[in-house]
Amino acid sequence: RTPVPSDIEIAQSQTPRNIDVLASEINLLSEEVDLYGKKKAKISLAVLERLKNRKNGKYVVVTGITPTPLGEGKSTTTVGLAQAIGSQLQRNIFACVRQPSQGPTFGIKGGAAGGGYSQVIPMEEFNLHLTGDIHAITAANNLLAAQIEARMFHESTQKDEALYKRLVPESKGKREFSTIQLRRLKKLGINKTDPNELTQEEVGRFVRLDFDPATITWQRVMDTNDRFLRKITVGQGPLEKGHTRECQFDITVASEIMAILALTTSLEDMKVRLQKMVVASSKSGEPITADDLGISGALAVLMKDAIRPNLMQTLEGTPVFVHAGPFANIAHGNSSIIADKIALKLVGENGFVVTEAGFGADIGMEKFFNIKCRYSGLVPNAVVLVATVRALKMHGGGPIVTAGVPLPKAYTEENLDLLEKGCSNLNKQIENANKFGVPVVVAINSFVTDTQSEVQLVQKLARENGAFDAVICQHWAQGGAGAVDLAKAIDNATQTQCNFKFLYELGLSIEEKIAIIAREIYGADGIELLPQAQEQVERYKNQGFTALPICMAKTHLSLSHDATLKGAPKGFTLPIREVRASIGAGFIYPLVGTMSTMPGLPTRPCFYDIDLDPETEEVTGLM
Ligand code: ADP
Repeated sequence: RTPVPSDIEIAQSQTPRNIDVLASEINLLSEEVDLYGKKKAKISLAVLERLKNRKNGKYVVVTGITPTPLGEGKSTTTVGLAQAIGSQLQRNIFACVRQPSQGPTFGIKGGAAGGGYSQVIPMEEFNLHLTGDIHAITAANNLLAAQIEARMFHESTQKDEALYKRLVPESKGKREFSTIQLRRLKKLGINKTDPNELTQEEVGRFVRLDFDPATITWQRVMDTNDRFLRKITVGQGPLEKGHTRECQFDITVASEIMAILALTTSLEDMKVRLQKMVVASSKSGEPITADDLGISGALAVLMKDAIRPNLMQTLEGTPVFVHAGPFANIAHGNSSIIADKIALKLVGENGFVVTEAGFGADIGMEKFFNIKCRYSGLVPNAVVLVATVRALKMHGGGPIVTAGVPLPKAYTEENLDLLEKGCSNLNKQIENANKFGVPVVVAINSFVTDTQSEVQLVQKLARENGAFDAVICQHWAQGGAGAVDLAKAIDNATQTQCNFKFLYELGLSIEEKIAIIAREIYGADGIELLPQAQEQVERYKNQGFTALPICMAKTHLSLSHDATLKGAPKGFTLPIREVRASIGAGFIYPLVGTMSTMPGLPTRPCFYDIDLDPETEEVTGLM
């Protein structure tokens, strides 16, 4: 099989089975399967009710060492391991992965379907629009953004009575509150259902959300790397004169609605979370929610199909759920709880679910445990920690690896010194996983340029430094057959006693929780809350939003906040520039250093290679 063809050539050389056939093989009922074409389907949440008495399978999370910008093969390993468990060990298996954002797909990194002979197919559909979930999030997010601006505009241009007349209009001689408005009245402590009975003072409180524009945290989003939208001014049209405001676009995967999709457990729960989203504070310091803006029902409507996970398959026919796609650096970085829960029921007691947590173990895995597992109540049985010789050499002091530039010589020739030094990062990430009490198997994802001595050195050092086991994998070049040892090691690891624990208790203060993550996971001496962050933490305390988990927004390229510090840096203080609150998703969101929530395009983005053959309708150049 050498040399290995390009990802898209391999993907297109395999014809996927029709997804309805796969769905019936894994015992889904036809009424639980909504086909989107022939190769993708959305799966109904009704499966959870039907199989509620069935025991869950083993739950395995795939994470990695601190990566190079090229990625070290977590998606590839998630798929490869799933293929090995399914086609080689003949056990029930599901892989659960995130839907890629079109930002990286067209930008620097390419898609996220895996690679080589370990991929989800059809990879073009996987990497592009899939079934439209990300578009639904963009639509919902921006409807809310439009309403914030419009509501401030209307409140500033109309008196209380006029606003009230428009918000509670007369229809067929009658005025009635909508369900959302009745909830708002209840929140305000106004115990009335007849619009004619409100006093003038009550009308005033009901109609005025009274935004403090400086506190607005809700941003517009789009799923494109567009750096020129990092700071914009809205309201420059002649009709909005006097209402200009500086704000920004984030990438869609950073939207709180994406986080809600990934963390919700049912339609009812999603509705409540959408209602609770806080977009700003009023001038008197009260939180203003999506429900106050009258929009939570419409958001739920826009998201009603997106909540159902998407069924696809690997090159070897293994079932895969693709669902939700938050980035692990600027969001919580994990696919959906719903997909994992359905998959755990479908595989049953003797089966496995392999789910992927984004970027290195310091971010995606930490958030998998402290946020995702806290909300799902699921207990993981094993961690797979993906390591590559190239990334470890970079951590040992090798030249910086850049996408689109050929790898320097240090990476293509044997260099055991550099490699051994760089294992400081591997050791720290093993230690990080062990802090949660779950056994860690290191998967050494081998590249053709690796020498036998190099991969064996990593294996030895991993075993000496706290890994349950360490195995050399060839699934990129060989598919499932190349990850049999990894599958066996995972089978062993999941049979051991697991003493899963969270890293911090929710009852601690926001600063204490951030400091625990900084010290224990990143290796920092402590944290420094910059003035804006202090002010925001104070506000959330006053608003009663303290008892939430923490979702750090930090670079994925270093254990620290400084992307240039490789290995396992020590002696640094973690600067917290800003702290946001995602109350609907259910976490506090500190921004570390200069994190941007909107990536940019490089000089030569991936799209230079992407094209369409009009004859065959085949997509070329996706990776
Ligand atoms: P991650 O999920 O960690 O970001 P991916 O699995 O997406 O990484 O892999 C990143 C890229 O590296 C993909 O293009 C993939 O095809 C390639 N890749 C992964 N493993 C190997 C390998 N062992 N040899 C060569 N290329 C690989």
